[in-house]
Amino acid sequence: MSNLREKYPNVHVEGTTSGTTGAINCSDIADSIVREACWEHEGVHQGTILEGLRQFGGLTNAYAQWYTNSVNWANDEVAAYGAGIRYYKLALDWL
Ligand SMILES: [Zn+2]
Repeated sequence: MSNLREKYPNVHVEGTTSGTTGAINCSDIADSIVREACWEHEGVHQGTILEGLRQFGGLTNAYAQWYTNSVNWANDEVAAYGAGIRYYKLALDWL
């Protein structure tokens, strides 16, 4: 993981989604376009988390194993960044 951090130093997190409740926090972002893209990104994670909680019966060991699985995590990030990118492309058309 440290190699990825060295290779992509500018990739960072704008918001958060609780892994236990699915609650999203993008409120510290001043720019409205970046904040909305954060909501799009974190919304993907929220949907995944809520589905996982439903599928694994809440905060069970099975949920924890699923939630911390790096392949699942990476796939969800790809989907989440895709949602953010789609929003940014729409925003560019409005500007
Ligand atoms: Zn993410």
